[in-house]
Amino acid sequence: MFRYSLILFLFIFFGTTTYSAKARLLSWQTLEDDLYLKVQLNFDKAIKYSSYKVQKNHAHVYTVPNAVNSRFSKRQDLSHLLAISFWVSKYKRGLQFKFFPRGVEKLSSKLINKNKTLEVTFPSPYLARKQIDKRSENFVVCIDAGHGGQDPGAQGSFSNEKEVVLKMSRALRDEINKKPGLVAYMTRDSDYKIMLGDRGKINDYAGADVFISLHMNASVPSAHGFEIFYISKQGAKDYKSKSPKKNIPKILATKKEKSELILNEILDDLMQNETMNESALFAQALAYEMKKVKSRRNRGVRREAFVVLKNIETPSVLIELGFITNKKDEAYFNSKSSRQEMSKHIANGVVKFLQKYKSLPKTVGDSFYKNTQRPIITKYPKILVEYIDYKVKRGDTFLKIAKKFKVSFSKLKRANPKVNPDRLYVGKKLKIPKIIQ
Ligand SMILES: [Zn+2]
Repeated sequence: MFRYSLILFLFIFFGTTTYSAKARLLSWQTLEDDLYLKVQLNFDKAIKYSSYKVQKNHAHVYTVPNAVNSRFSKRQDLSHLLAISFWVSKYKRGLQFKFFPRGVEKLSSKLINKNKTLEVTFPSPYLARKQIDKRSENFVVCIDAGHGGQDPGAQGSFSNEKEVVLKMSRALRDEINKKPGLVAYMTRDSDYKIMLGDRGKINDYAGADVFISLHMNASVPSAHGFEIFYISKQGAKDYKSKSPKKNIPKILATKKEKSELILNEILDDLMQNETMNESALFAQALAYEMKKVKSRRNRGVRREAFVVLKNIETPSVLIELGFITNKKDEAYFNSKSSRQEMSKHIANGVVKFLQKYKSLPKTVGDSFYKNTQRPIITKYPKILVEYIDYKVKRGDTFLKIAKKFKVSFSKLKRANPKVNPDRLYVGKKLKIPKIIQ
């Protein structure tokens, strides 16, 4: 009896002291600037921490021993260009925080507030000041290299999809950045996985005007050439009637993502329908330029219900560049000069689309730009913009107003950062950006 009570006593004693000594995660907040994003994790007591980086998936892990979390779910949304979310989980007797920064390799961290707050800083001079210049009126082209990390995509005889499309995305980024008035932004610029749903979010955060997802196809060895897809109602039917083996697994990574494919939801949305029409025009403009490369076969522009294109408000396409399972196609996209050749044509297609259907000035074409060296973005000729005041009328929607003044949805949104496009009311004042050259 004595022995049992002693054990019980020891258990209560150590159990409660350890428990009460644990630091509790109270809250977190972000601070941001052009130069950084800071995430501050606030505890009720002083903490200690250690950190390390996982090379494989680019995770930055911060471990706080002797800590508990009873308030926050595992995934916390940051909705920032430098990081979409972070993860909180239990680790041994403490907590672990995982960050997946994008575009920056090094994070810094320190304890502040009498060691009760862990502050993780994402430096962003390159991203925030050069790559995405929110204040400039450059058109932003979001380039999405498909797959990455644990998801290699389709396999060729000596290369795989995730590597080929990343190299191709970099080549396209360089060509886009050579065009005055255009800036490229990549959803991933090294080998890590991004959830399909997050790729569209990145497009949004970057304030992109168009979205291009790059992939390599796979089939029988004889199949070759490129195909360009955009999302559509018709695509929904095709999606169901075609053998799922052929179309689904490569693009839809997980079951959860498959279940997200609720097409009615997409199609009931007027905005998506409008975007669909523009996406079709965008796809055609790209195909028109891409087929100028003589060695490449144009398999056509098609409609398909790809999850990665869902909920993107800007014109968006998915390009299957070629077949990684075809000898010639695989060799073509593994050659640097070929990638440059194809990227030039895709970039020209982007320019033509933006000139014809958006407000990119006509002078910003190939003939205007002869310099073969990549210029520094800040030295680009500035596009001049003036702002017009507009009062919302009955029956107006954000998109209708954008159409009326021939500005892109994202540009109108950027000009009115505090306005929620879903909550417009009659009499609300908006700023309409107008390019005057
Ligand atoms: Zn793919």
